Amino acid sequence: MSYVYRVVGNDKISLDDFDASADAELEREEAEAKTIKLIEELIELQSLLYAARRHSVLVVLQGRDTSGKDGVLRKVIGPLDSRGCDVSSFKVPSEEALAHDFLWRIHQQTPALGHIKIFNRSHYEDVLVVRVHNLVPEEVWRRRYDHINNFERLLADSGTVILKFYLHISKDEQEERLLEREKDSTKYWKLSVGDWKEREHWDYYTKAYEDAISHCSSEHAPWLIVPANKKWFRNLAIAHALRDALLPHKDHWLQTLEETGRRELQAIEEYRQKSKR
Ligand code: ADP
Repeated sequence: MSYVYRVVGNDKISLDDFDASADAELEREEAEAKTIKLIEELIELQSLLYAARRHSVLVVLQGRDTSGKDGVLRKVIGPLDSRGCDVSSFKVPSEEALAHDFLWRIHQQTPALGHIKIFNRSHYEDVLVVRVHNLVPEEVWRRRYDHINNFERLLADSGTVILKFYLHISKDEQEERLLEREKDSTKYWKLSVGDWKEREHWDYYTKAYEDAISHCSSEHAPWLIVPANKKWFRNLAIAHALRDALLPHKDHWLQTLEETGRRELQAIEEYRQKSKR
């Protein structure tokens, strides 16, 4: 049972086929209670991941403006232990970044063993905003799907568990959220005319997202489509998918920690014996 749609193996997808308001027929309170439990489990799994240092975790958050990336960071990622979890936000690339290949700035931010890294936007911007705004010629961005697939393969082969979330909101929901910000002075800091301008390219972004998701989903780095019109359901879906991705490794991490513990115990024993002599 899953609250997200998992895209695998070059499935050709159409975002219109997914209901952005889906909620698995849960009530808000019920969903929030489940989310709290899942986050408790996640905290426990994170401490094993951190101590065992066998894997790293990369979570990619993508979605249109107002889709809730910041909300996920606050509600789902916020409670995790900050010693082993942090966020990299990718904005318009610097001059230095633009003087390198598009993955240069990304690779510097990938997680070390034991760590969880959240990408708030990511290398996918290089086949999304870059495509929609013609920032590079088509033959350049088209080749990037292969570059991305190879890059993610490399990360997975190096022990990185990869999950890529597309926060799926409807066009009406986006309008409502943008207008909401204008009514609430505590949200004024979020106002940007750029969001309204980007909205004009809604259909181009849809096509760009559909291609990115279709071309770059794999067993080791799947795209997960998250119904995100209801914020409480979005949080549940992400916490649930994360927990499901980490849980299969739990026994391996526990075993690693036990072995490490045994080795240390033996070293302590030997040390004591030597000190007695
Ligand atoms: P956010 O919208 O994520 O809260 P910002 O308002 O600072 O944060 O927006 C970051 C901007 O940087 C977005 O418009 C995004 O499309 C842009 N961006 C990110 N990566 C790239 C890239 N590789 N090339 C061009 N623009 C990019």
